[in-house]
Amino acid sequence: MKKALVCGAGGFIGGHMVKRLKAEGYWVRGVDIKEHEFSTLPADDFVVGDLTDPRVVASVVDEGMDEIYQFAADMGGAGYIFTGEHDAAVMHNSALCNLNTVEEAARKKVGKIFYSSSACIYPETIQVDTDNPGLEEGFAYPAQPDSEYGWEKLFSERLYLAYQRNYGIAVRVARFHNIFGPEGTWCGGKEKAPAAMCRKVAETEDGGSIEMWGDGEQTRSFLYIDECIEGVRKLMESDFSDPVNIGSDEMISINDLAIMTADIAGKKISLNHIPGPLGVRGRNSENTLIKAKLNWAPSETLRSGMEKTYNWIADQVSRAVES
Ligand code: NAD
Repeated sequence: MKKALVCGAGGFIGGHMVKRLKAEGYWVRGVDIKEHEFSTLPADDFVVGDLTDPRVVASVVDEGMDEIYQFAADMGGAGYIFTGEHDAAVMHNSALCNLNTVEEAARKKVGKIFYSSSACIYPETIQVDTDNPGLEEGFAYPAQPDSEYGWEKLFSERLYLAYQRNYGIAVRVARFHNIFGPEGTWCGGKEKAPAAMCRKVAETEDGGSIEMWGDGEQTRSFLYIDECIEGVRKLMESDFSDPVNIGSDEMISINDLAIMTADIAGKKISLNHIPGPLGVRGRNSENTLIKAKLNWAPSETLRSGMEKTYNWIADQVSRAVES
């Protein structure tokens, strides 16, 4: 039986990965600074601990473990990442999680380690148009991410690749592009655009209006969680060890995402554009490399993922109202 450690298992993607690995027959240990908010995880072992503490990391990484999935990070949507208020915490916390985990993994001769990087590593200078043709992996340098979150991700990509070169540990790195779905943060300030949109629409009466940061013309692509997990598993099973995009190439404006969400809810909703933190003007995944290396790329439509996500968030909203 293969043994895996999932770091950040109390979070959105980590929680889904625990379920997937258990379904595949793995023995799984999860670790996170908190329990999972929305789900009772089927992990064989779950440790509540802070990965910035090397003693905690030493206690959860076993000698010769087969795989580690490192998802732990200080993380949020534009309202968290782009205000500047959390920059030091984001860099300090996430970098220490990565420094400690990769060091312990190399020391204990872990078979393979996955690192979750982000589309936020790409230079802001190539994301100034809403009509973005897609961010190829090779566009990462010369580097100029638009946030400290992105700089930390880029540093940590290099950290894992350096450990691969110097200590021979097998590393897999994916650059996620806006992952969304059920059991992700949907309120409280760390939620990202699809979840925020679902919550606002669910909380608003038919005929009402919702607030949106900026003019709503900014574009993004969003990837449903099941396809993200599938991509990570395929990458782990492959022998490809350079960073690769895991994202959808179905780009949409935030205005159209709102219209889609309202349509799913069966409501007529108008948009009230207000100033707020925004990020880059246009961002899309470019999937030539993943198709070439994994013979696979995400294909589910945004609409289908948004329907499942809206239903889950609308249910959370009505439970919150009842309690
Ligand atoms: P999440 O916030 O739901 O999960 C991250 C988890 O890490 C949280 O449960 C948090 O408690 C945990 N964590 C933070 N600091 C910790 C510490 N010091 N010790 C132990 N646990 C700690 O975020 P997510 O959406 O599941 O993202 C998972 C990973 O994927 C992150 O590294 C994130 O940067 C990356 N990523 C996510 C997206 C996305 O759209 N969700 C996009 C690009 C990259």
